[in-house]
Amino acid sequence: MQELTHYIDGAHVKGTSGRFADVMYPATGEVQAKVPLASKDELDRAVEIAAAAQPAWAAVNPQRRARVLMAFVGLLNRDMDKLAEALSREHGKTFPDAKGDVQRGLEVVEYCIGAPQMLKGEYTDAAGPGIDIYSMRQALGVTAGITPFNFPAMIPMWMFAPAIACGNAFILKPSERDPSVPLMLAELLEEAGLPKGIIQVVNGDKESVDAILDNEVIQSVGFVGSTPIAEYIYSRGCAAGKRVQCFGGAKNHMIIMPDADMDQAADALVGAGYGAAGERCMAISVAVPVGDETADRLIEKLIPRVEKLKVGPYTAGDDVDYGPVVTKAAKENILRLVETGVDQGAKLVVDGRNFSLQGYEDGFFVGAHLFDHVTTDMDIYKTEIFGPVLSTVRAKTYEEALSYAMDHEYGNGTAIFTRDGDTARDFASRINIGMVGINVPIPVPLAYHTFGGWKKSAFGDLNQHGPDAFKFYTRTKTVTARWPSGLKEGGEFHFKPMD
Ligand code: NAD
Repeated sequence: MQELTHYIDGAHVKGTSGRFADVMYPATGEVQAKVPLASKDELDRAVEIAAAAQPAWAAVNPQRRARVLMAFVGLLNRDMDKLAEALSREHGKTFPDAKGDVQRGLEVVEYCIGAPQMLKGEYTDAAGPGIDIYSMRQALGVTAGITPFNFPAMIPMWMFAPAIACGNAFILKPSERDPSVPLMLAELLEEAGLPKGIIQVVNGDKESVDAILDNEVIQSVGFVGSTPIAEYIYSRGCAAGKRVQCFGGAKNHMIIMPDADMDQAADALVGAGYGAAGERCMAISVAVPVGDETADRLIEKLIPRVEKLKVGPYTAGDDVDYGPVVTKAAKENILRLVETGVDQGAKLVVDGRNFSLQGYEDGFFVGAHLFDHVTTDMDIYKTEIFGPVLSTVRAKTYEEALSYAMDHEYGNGTAIFTRDGDTARDFASRINIGMVGINVPIPVPLAYHTFGGWKKSAFGDLNQHGPDAFKFYTRTKTVTARWPSGLKEGGEFHFKPMD
């Protein structure tokens, strides 16, 4: 059995806590490796190493720091297939989707190569007689990130690329379900020229997360995962005086207006609802057709598309639409929620409950499910299912459809499909959700814009990547300088406006 490691001080290091978690091969249900779960002592030791290495890294000029990221991009492209293979093996997503996971992280690394421009600061010449004021953005010191299983390449890169570009050291606590790619990324960063100790990967569970929150040297914590854990980390991290940003769960609605191109809407829904087995925080999990006639037309188009989805292991390459879900527990939870939907009166128009894949009977594959006539009091509507299950909630009017999306506790992403610009503009303006698609089902902003939800989907003031990342990973220092000094004329005892 392969025993994975931590990555500390530039080397793979075996765990010493004696605690391990199983890393599964989701396609067969077999255990493929064991990952060590760090103790508080192991985490604290990594922080000491980071704190010792960080000042010298912060003193490297920003352009040279950016060159390390430039070289890292080259290495990511060189090893793209290797990374995607390792990612698919542990996560279960298809090979093309795994490449997309690496690619969307890589794009944020590319954006961070522009760090020197972002870190330039501000300057006011002659703010008073002989007085200049300038603000600089300085690194925080040691920073940390806690990431989810569903994007094991992209989300770590969204955090560590800006953190490192700004001159911080970064400790990554990835998901214990698919830790191999984060370890490979750390190795590649050092091959690209990053000094030892600036990126470290400490594998673990709640114990290492609590150790991050309790460690006084760590200045900031980024988290992406489920909402209950996001709330826990946000409140404890803030109470400890850290800078914290936490991104949580989702229930993304797509509104389909009567004038929408129904083929386009159905294709979009199938990709956004079932891609990656629905294990995306930007997946569409609720379709809201406006009017019964629209709903009937939509369901008619959806059923054959959902029925013909191809489910299989990543080794089948382009021949599969989605793979297994990540664990047996995830599969059981999805099927349990489907049962609640049936029991509570929703109409299961595509029933994937008896799905089984020949040769992979013990794998964590879940058939595609499509519900119609879902109502807002049902568990399948209220809960994030994180599986290949699409719920259809019929709305009588646009206003009713809008209110469903607005009243849901989550506010990560949403979309509207329409040919009417007026409706689309009204939707974009009024909706209380962070990322909005107009005839675009998964509106994940590109690297140079920011990514973040509203309501219970995000906690903290700043979004991920884009210009916000440079704010999150630096603090501002403002210097007021006087040359030559008028101080010899005597001290000043009161605040007064500059002359
Ligand atoms: P999760 O909350 O179970 O785990 C996320 C991280 O928290 C992991 O590193 C895990 O080890 C750690 N963790 C788990 N339990 C903990 C506990 N009790 N105390 C402290 N730390 C703990 O999430 P997941 O299942 O890995 O990921 C799926 C979730 O992430 C979904 O809810 C999805 O919507 C969300 N997600 C959100 C975004 C976003 O940007 N909003 C992006 C991706 C995923």
